[in-house]
Amino acid sequence: MDETNNKEQENKKNKKKNKLPLWQVILLILLIIGIIISSFYMAYEYKNQNDEKELAYTQLIENINKNEVEKIEMTTGSNSITVTLKGEGEEKERQKTVLVPSLQAFIELVQEKVDKEGLEIDLSQKSINPALRIADTVFSMLPTILLIALIVMMFKMQGLGGDNGKVYGGEENKSTNVKFDDVAGLDEEKGELIEIVDFLKKPKAYLDMGAKIPKGILLYGKPGTGKTLIAKAIAGEAGVPFISMSGSEFIEMFAGLGASRVRKLFEKAKKMAPCIIFIDEIDAIGSRRTSSSGAETENNQTLNQLLVEMDGFDSTETIIVLAATNRPEMLDKALLRPGRFDRQITIPAPDLNGREEILKLHAKNKKFESDIKFKDIAGDTAGFTGAELANVLNEAAIIATRNKHKKISNTDIEDAVKKITVGLEKHNRVISDKDKKLTAYHEAGHAIVSKFLETQTDVKEVSIIPRGLAGGYTMYKTNEDKYYVSKTELLEKMVALMGGRAAEKLALNEISTGASNDIEVATGIAKDMLTVYGMSDSLGPISLKVNDPYELQIFGEGVTDEVGNQIRILIDNAYVTAQKILSEHMDILDAVAQTLLEKEKITTEEFEEFFK
Ligand code: ADP
Ligand code: ZN
Repeated sequence: MDETNNKEQENKKNKKKNKLPLWQVILLILLIIGIIISSFYMAYEYKNQNDEKELAYTQLIENINKNEVEKIEMTTGSNSITVTLKGEGEEKERQKTVLVPSLQAFIELVQEKVDKEGLEIDLSQKSINPALRIADTVFSMLPTILLIALIVMMFKMQGLGGDNGKVYGGEENKSTNVKFDDVAGLDEEKGELIEIVDFLKKPKAYLDMGAKIPKGILLYGKPGTGKTLIAKAIAGEAGVPFISMSGSEFIEMFAGLGASRVRKLFEKAKKMAPCIIFIDEIDAIGSRRTSSSGAETENNQTLNQLLVEMDGFDSTETIIVLAATNRPEMLDKALLRPGRFDRQITIPAPDLNGREEILKLHAKNKKFESDIKFKDIAGDTAGFTGAELANVLNEAAIIATRNKHKKISNTDIEDAVKKITVGLEKHNRVISDKDKKLTAYHEAGHAIVSKFLETQTDVKEVSIIPRGLAGGYTMYKTNEDKYYVSKTELLEKMVALMGGRAAEKLALNEISTGASNDIEVATGIAKDMLTVYGMSDSLGPISLKVNDPYELQIFGEGVTDEVGNQIRILIDNAYVTAQKILSEHMDILDAVAQTLLEKEKITTEEFEEFFK
């Protein structure tokens, strides 16, 4: 039952937490366990041999001289021999292993003893299963192998041997294939960036002229406004490689990793210059440096490395670093100094014309009915980003296919817009008659109150079909793109928001939780009016937006009480106004609510009929 003309559906980019993939973690643990087990095993073996089986070389010579040796077995390539001493008992128990310094010398020595002194020593070659031998050798080397594997893995994860930054283009295909023509709207921004393309194409001309070319350009704008697209287009137009990386990829588990990635990224870029480096979500690394510990410190190292790299290459190196963020206020000021990201370009959400152009561009490979008017769709989608508009057409194509239409129709597109704005219609949600009645009056209240307010746009559709979380909705026409909103408009917006609850109370003498979102939005508006826009007479045109409530103290003790009081007054007034409008038009309220209960949905034309 909430206002649904608010199309600011922030496409929250799912911030991938850059943790190690599970398999790497498992492998790491297995490696470490392997090393521990095998080294324990080796130590055990060694101890065993030492304790009972091993004989010192000098001791052996003595045994030989005393003629106490029965048999000597050797294996080729090994300095370890098996000696059987004379005596009672099992042969196994009389066997010892001896490590001889030089096998050759030892054989000669024994041979001489046998020949000259007539000692009886059975000198034999031990035959050993070659497979067993290899296994034995491998096993004895196991800890070493595992240790090497571990080190290699750590290095890989440090990104030293790994891939840093995706490169589009490169040797074979030197561009991204994206051109400025693929970026609709944004004419001013493209105009500003065209000189970068020119510089990348013929840097010498600029440098000879003594021109200083920007190293870093920051693109501000919410997700989906085409920042990546325009960065790719610059590379594509200039025909240079496009190396991209996301800020969140720099934030990793191991300390120093982010910094090393930054270093590698720039090393790579220097090899490929002229080229473009694109760092998406730069706020992930470039947020204000703090002196805290842990992840913050890691962040600082990465940011510092980025600053070092930006300062490190000079403008003859024809590397241009483009970075994107939707939270410019978060960025460390050091990033914005001259020689770093000293140029900032805002990429706004498209205006009416821009939206039409983007729709037309993305419509190219789709089939539409001949009566499609992209201008009208653009009119209905104020606030949509390029990505959302592309999504609308894609949704429309899906809906058209599902409805077995030959081509995409106007209604398919309208449905797609609705779907993206408020989520799918949930026809099958079971609603009690009582709930339906409440919703009908609530939505009728919003619509009728708006009708009597000068600044509120016309109602486009009223419905009591649940959508997403809302039990019903009132959709408004969006007729113009506005940069500024007047105080009257804000006040009336609050009245329209209160219309839902006022209708519930008037018609059914009951209020419900259905108005919770309306109340939340209205309270937010009131708060902003007082603390951000300075629209209150009693508080004056001052900004009371503070990070820390203690900062408010500079305005005097009572200021928080005053803000609270004023918010209450604004909301109360809005509610009273809404109630007044509705009580003067109870007949219309009943009629609209009744029609809603019958038809579930009312269009503009049908709604206007009630006022004739
Ligand atoms: P950002 O980097 O600002 O989050 P992207 O550049 O990734 O946004 O945009 C996502 C997609 O949205 C693009 O691949 C493109 O299909 C579409 N898009 C966004 N802006 C435009 C535009 N101005 N013209 C054409 N398509 C756009
Ligand atoms: Zn509502």
